[in-house]
Amino acid sequence: MLLPYIILALTVVILLLLFLPLKGKKYETAVPEQHLDERDTMFSRNEIKPGEKRFDDYYDMRPENRSRDDAFRLKPGLLSPDSANYKRYAFASADASFEAVEAFFPYREKGKRQKEKDKSRGAEFCASDSAMKLTGFIKGWARKMGAHSVGITEMRDYHFYTYGGRKERYGKKVTNDHKYGIAITVEMDHELTLTGPQAPAVMESARQYLNSGMIATQTALTLRNLGYEAKTHIDANYDLICPLVARDAGLGEIGRMGLLMTPALGPRVRIAVVTTDAPLKTDEPGYDNTVIDFCSLCKKCARNCPSSSIPDGERENHPGGLRWKINQESCYTFWCHAGTDCARCMAVCPYSHKANMFHNFIRWGIRNNFIFRRIAVKLDDLFYGAKPEPGKEPYWAG
Ligand code: SF4
Ligand code: SF4
Repeated sequence: MLLPYIILALTVVILLLLFLPLKGKKYETAVPEQHLDERDTMFSRNEIKPGEKRFDDYYDMRPENRSRDDAFRLKPGLLSPDSANYKRYAFASADASFEAVEAFFPYREKGKRQKEKDKSRGAEFCASDSAMKLTGFIKGWARKMGAHSVGITEMRDYHFYTYGGRKERYGKKVTNDHKYGIAITVEMDHELTLTGPQAPAVMESARQYLNSGMIATQTALTLRNLGYEAKTHIDANYDLICPLVARDAGLGEIGRMGLLMTPALGPRVRIAVVTTDAPLKTDEPGYDNTVIDFCSLCKKCARNCPSSSIPDGERENHPGGLRWKINQESCYTFWCHAGTDCARCMAVCPYSHKANMFHNFIRWGIRNNFIFRRIAVKLDDLFYGAKPEPGKEPYWAG
């Protein structure tokens, strides 16, 4: 007779334990003390060629990187026809997106398109802009152009590289005159991302560099036409570290794989930034203990990384702050072998699932309750596999 009451009581207790707002452990907020030099990024190191002065200068400065870099130089390279995952159509499309985004490079610099009439009447026009109104317009328009999320932060020194590392910016000290940064994310297609490290994944990431580049460029030109300075930070032209700016602009937290983890799409986004002197209203930073806690338990990206580049321990202090630091050399060497930018870590991450009603409920539970979080880690392995195979490539992308 008592049994139904016991079952009912147990059910209520379990529901309370799972759904009460029990946030769990507090983690230290990671604010970088040492700033990063873009010349140390793998794309910069790939651009310097033997025989060039900057090649010799770089390895005089960082002799410890020489043998590690020789390893990736022996591989076919990103989008190479000799790479392991080469697919003719998909690689041609990825190359096309990277080429197309170059069309935006001339519009990158501040003041380039500021109209004469606005220059002379700039102060008058600008005085009539309220931060609230302009922010609403910029965010609304960026979303209409295809942004998934848009956030604004005050720029801090640690957002910026110390020195540039790509093309004509190589070795030049990075400076900034702009008070605000507008961080823009765009969604990476779920089906194509899941195929990583196969060719459709790089086709999709290249497309989203192009899309985010377009939105950032349009936004910067709009601000300039309104009489403000604005500068884009888009593919191959970053003065700053996009995930740090996006986190401080409230768009997410930085997870184990070193990428921005957004609340709705996890790491399945690309980011572009516009810096500006326009008056804007800032957002609260995206510090999120629940992401750090979930990543501490999950480790699925580390388990599935084909080059074992993702650490499976705790966060540590590195240049760039308290964080999980991936082994960028072994990751990039794998890219140069595969010919794609891999994305296996992004594909397997439990936060990357489609943003439908079911997954949004799980995301809410993960944020809300530390016991729910622990069960969700196990259930993700149960339903999707602890080591899932890459998703099936669409027939047309073969
Ligand atoms: S796979 Fe797991 S550990 Fe890795 S970033 Fe995603 S949630 Fe964090
Ligand atoms: S992109 Fe691929 S190789 Fe690089 S860290 Fe992620 S899973 Fe590993």
